[in-house]
Amino acid sequence: MTYIPDSKRYDTATFRRCGKSGIVLPPVSLGLWQNFGGADVFETGRAVIRRAFDRGVTHFDLANNYGPPYGSAEENFGEILRKDFRGLRNELLISSKAGWDMWPGPYGIGGSRKYLLASLDESLERMGLDYVDIFYSHRPSMDVPLEETMGALASAVHQGKALYVGISSYSPERTREAAQILKSAGVPLLIHQPSYSMLNRWIEHGLLATLDELGVGCIAFSPLAQGLLTNKYLHGIPENSRAKAEGSLQKEHLSEENLKRVRSLNEIAKGRGQTLAQMAIAWVLRDHRVTSALIGARNVAQLDDSLDAVKKLDFGDAELKEIDSYARE
Ligand code: NDP
Repeated sequence: MTYIPDSKRYDTATFRRCGKSGIVLPPVSLGLWQNFGGADVFETGRAVIRRAFDRGVTHFDLANNYGPPYGSAEENFGEILRKDFRGLRNELLISSKAGWDMWPGPYGIGGSRKYLLASLDESLERMGLDYVDIFYSHRPSMDVPLEETMGALASAVHQGKALYVGISSYSPERTREAAQILKSAGVPLLIHQPSYSMLNRWIEHGLLATLDELGVGCIAFSPLAQGLLTNKYLHGIPENSRAKAEGSLQKEHLSEENLKRVRSLNEIAKGRGQTLAQMAIAWVLRDHRVTSALIGARNVAQLDDSLDAVKKLDFGDAELKEIDSYARE
């Protein structure tokens, strides 16, 4: 069926400025790491993307190796763009990345100029795009000079293949260095993409302060701790779940001790009139230095639930204290 986007999609949508840049992001962005690959049901992913856009989600995050198989999330996303989003490219903020393993041999992984620029060309080809909005170095490569990796990102911008650049999972020190190198190439560092959730607070120990000082935005990935910070595992491990698939969410995270904490957090969420997923997303957004919460969703129901987080973003001091007593790193 022909997709006609909801004409009211921006009526209540809010946006948050990305660092000191000119760009804004939706408070909740959608990532295609899982559930959008060749092994998944295409129409389910397509429905999720359409629904997200209808609800004011303008930012979609990909990487070269999202799937499985690698590359297939970009291929599927490209097909969705062609089928449903013709004429809407200028309303979308699309990102991709390179850094983790993509193809065999030494030039298909890491932070070399050869890998990053070849990978970006392949990502553009798979998605059928002339440019991505943001191109990331997906992870720090300690064996590659930072000048080379940042030089590749700057080249992507100079070649018109990316509008902005970002880095993911870099330490505060390396972030500072990266920003400096990029600046000298005339390309500002737009954004950092770190993991962040109630259960994973590493960015509070220096990175957020560094980003704030540098005027760089922050998009927090896995704010739901891959599903642990939702009502998903309160009563066992459902068939349709990452934990069941024994993929990226290992069963040891579902220890009775962890689940006890999650149940207590669920009670706090209930007291706020929210689901746990909504509270977990609101929690990462409570800090103004976090531009966007980057979530995943298996289906439209999960997406709808998560997007409703923005209905209640404020926390009282007592609530935050109580959350801290159950959710620690
Ligand atoms: P989340 O923490 O949001 O986990 C998403 C998973 O949580 C879903 O697949 C689903 O699990 C479950 N879930 C989501 N919403 C709900 C809900 N409302 N109720 C119950 N369960 C729910 O994020 P991801 O780990 O998926 O990461 C999000 C994005 O971040 C990725 O797509 C990617 O773009 C980016 N990312 C970046 C990384 C990097 O190195 N830069 C690394 C990892 C992610 P289930 O499928 O089991 O139902």
